[in-house]
Amino acid sequence: MKNLRHQSLEAIEDLLKEWGEPKFRAAQIWDWLWKKNAGSIGEMSNLPKALRERLGTEFGITKVVIHHSQFSSDGTIKNRLQLHDGHFIESVLIPTEKRVTVCVSSQVGCSLSCKFCATGYLPRLRNLEFDEIVDEVTMAQEQALQHYGRPITNIVYMGMGEPLLNYKNVLRSIERITSSDGMGMSPRRITVSTSGIAKMIRQLGDDGIRFKLALSLHAATDEKRSEIMPINETNDLTMLKDALNYFYQKTGNEITFEYILFRDFNDSLTDADALVKFCRQVPADLVNIIEYNPIEAADYEKPEENSVSAFMQYLESKRVNARLRRSRGRDIDAACGQLANVNHESAP
Ligand code: SAH
Ligand code: SF4
Repeated sequence: MKNLRHQSLEAIEDLLKEWGEPKFRAAQIWDWLWKKNAGSIGEMSNLPKALRERLGTEFGITKVVIHHSQFSSDGTIKNRLQLHDGHFIESVLIPTEKRVTVCVSSQVGCSLSCKFCATGYLPRLRNLEFDEIVDEVTMAQEQALQHYGRPITNIVYMGMGEPLLNYKNVLRSIERITSSDGMGMSPRRITVSTSGIAKMIRQLGDDGIRFKLALSLHAATDEKRSEIMPINETNDLTMLKDALNYFYQKTGNEITFEYILFRDFNDSLTDADALVKFCRQVPADLVNIIEYNPIEAADYEKPEENSVSAFMQYLESKRVNARLRRSRGRDIDAACGQLANVNHESAP
């Protein structure tokens, strides 16, 4: 059985032509797939029954389902989602005064084993299909309207997995989410976060993408970065700097850095200075300084409040545009790096 959502509009048009059906039927099907988010061909009520049956003999639709949702005291919602082949992923909705952000996963697990990240301790089982990522967003949209009474304003690819190692599906999902025959979201409201795959950052430049890019930097010397992120051994800071400059030259798109502060590892003024120097070599608009969310598997610790403020002050004195980000949803393990599929295994 082929997945109807994996067909292009042209392919559906060609097929219907072959079947002797009028062309407008293809547009109707497309509308059911991407505007009405149909979960089955049977739902497509404006199609003749015979056509629905014929379609049903060759195609099916598989959708992601919510297995369990957890609600944080701060309004954050974490969803455990089940894929058609039984795997689980997680998505998180984060409401603030002005925004509703959904954080989506791009892979089941992750192959990159960053030491501080819960997902990094899971094996990478498979890539998500583009329509599974679209489902994460459309489901979050329904929840946002239901629970907050307002729609999603931003999408971040910061859930489980490395988006640039699932390049095609991630780009195709964004194309669907931003398309006027889908959700029509602006690409400027979408951020893809990467641990730094230099070759794929260049590819983003060549593809002239319009969304934003965030680099998970976390340390500004190769020695320290390699210690916490094994990917740095093959994609070091010089390669990343060159790739980001190439990307910026091609797209002019906003680049941000993510920098988690770990106590006594990367939170000194010497570390801040290395960060300033790296920032001077890449046209980054903003550095998000993130609080470390402790995970069981690692022994890192959160920094002391006074080293956080000294670090921030140093960046400010060097005119680096930095913002301190406090975590949300920590009481339900929904904060950055805490997505590990381990909670509520037995929940309904
Ligand atoms: N693989 C991509 C996107 C998913 S991770 C990437 O690494 O960028 C999303 C963000 O959460 C990254 O910036 C990641 O470094 C951060 N993160 C991971 N574990 C964390 C933790 N324990 N505390 C705070 N942030 C964490
Ligand atoms: Fe993978 Fe990103 Fe976690 Fe690293 S931080 S293990 S790349 S999800």
